[in-house]
Amino acid sequence: MIQRPRGTRDILPPESRLWAAVEATARDVFHAFGAEEIRTPVFEATELFVRSVGEATDIVHKEMYTFPDRKGRSLTLRPENTASVARAWIENGLSERSHPLRLYYIGPMFRYERMQRGRYRQFAQIGLEILGAASSLADVEILLVLHELFTRLGFDDLVIHLNNLGDPEDRPRYVAVVRERLEPHRAELCGDCQRRLDENPLRILDCKVPRCQELAAAVPGIDEVAGEPSRTHVAAVERQLEALGIAYRRNPRLVRGLDYYLRTVFEVVSPQLGTGTVLCGGGRYDRLISDLGGPAIPGTGFAIGEDRLIDVLPDRFRHDVLATPRLILVPLGETAEERAMVLARDWVRAGVPVEVEVSGRSLKAALKRADRERASAVAILGDDELAAGNVAVRDLTAGTQEHVAIGAVPEWWRRRG
Ligand code: ATP
Ligand code: MG
Repeated sequence: MIQRPRGTRDILPPESRLWAAVEATARDVFHAFGAEEIRTPVFEATELFVRSVGEATDIVHKEMYTFPDRKGRSLTLRPENTASVARAWIENGLSERSHPLRLYYIGPMFRYERMQRGRYRQFAQIGLEILGAASSLADVEILLVLHELFTRLGFDDLVIHLNNLGDPEDRPRYVAVVRERLEPHRAELCGDCQRRLDENPLRILDCKVPRCQELAAAVPGIDEVAGEPSRTHVAAVERQLEALGIAYRRNPRLVRGLDYYLRTVFEVVSPQLGTGTVLCGGGRYDRLISDLGGPAIPGTGFAIGEDRLIDVLPDRFRHDVLATPRLILVPLGETAEERAMVLARDWVRAGVPVEVEVSGRSLKAALKRADRERASAVAILGDDELAAGNVAVRDLTAGTQEHVAIGAVPEWWRRRG
């Protein structure tokens, strides 16, 4: 039998309903804050990610799905979407539009990773970017929208970790500090981190290996080495978060796994998943668009891992979505079957979610199935009902049955709530 590729998933009903509901909620919140959707291709020129995410990151180093197309051009399945948004911004001349531009996306990303809980090779991200605003206000807005979305989904236990990554000018100084501290311990670092020590020492702070984390904990925070402008910027973000009552934790060794971030960076973790499995990451990337050959346009944004989000979705939201009410229409006999689709059409047009029993099951079998699948109600259309112009409606929640005129079913449905 042919199986799906490792690290991919089939999202089946009713679970798929949760995905749709989460995405609908995200769209609502984004639209409410003035964001609009952007849809970029799922594959891009490999060069785009090498230049933006950074050559020495794990993503570019070992996680990309890169392949030559039939003409030998190197393409890559997008491992993340901020680079694509930046590319689209430049390519479509979006600088002509009003600033700032708030753009969101929802879609699949691809990384060749080792499989484990919450880590897939195809996974979905829900992301938001604000392009064209250098102010700390934009960072605060990003965090506010994120917080609103999580609140609307029913979360109340998530923790925002925040840090100041400094400006790119501060980087060499900090890299020197990290090297100086960790070089004596080179042999104790994991293989990846020994390479990182040479290529991109900041990445060591992001390593998940416990011994590396212990050693990294002795390195001073980036903020201590950062220049005044970035410190002032992030301090303003913190003040405004406090004014909004949005709780956060300062994490001086938070660096994120992509090279383009500067100043404000953050991650959202869930106590249910632990700090090793991050729900959402983001931050400011003022040089990304200019590094890709565009104008000097600042940006800030986040990306939520939708798979992980669904994994820890609060019970309340989960229950409300899965308990979506449904009416099953059971036609008994040939004449009733012929009428059934007309009724279904009219009721659906009147706002009732109808599922016609098209299998020709007996009434007993149909009721059993309705019960098993937790339908809210069943409408039975037999010969007597046909003659009288009504249906027998059985409310499976209340356990009651009554006859309702065919045209009055939408009204009856609304009344039962
Ligand atoms: P991690 O540290 O877990 O590898 P990351 O720093 O590589 O995450 P980002 O590039 O910041 O992740 O992506 C943002 C979010 O996308 C992550 O916080 C996570 O929720 C989700 N994500 C990233 N990689 C995966 C994956 N392989 N499977 C599922 N979700 C993922
Ligand atoms: Mg990763």
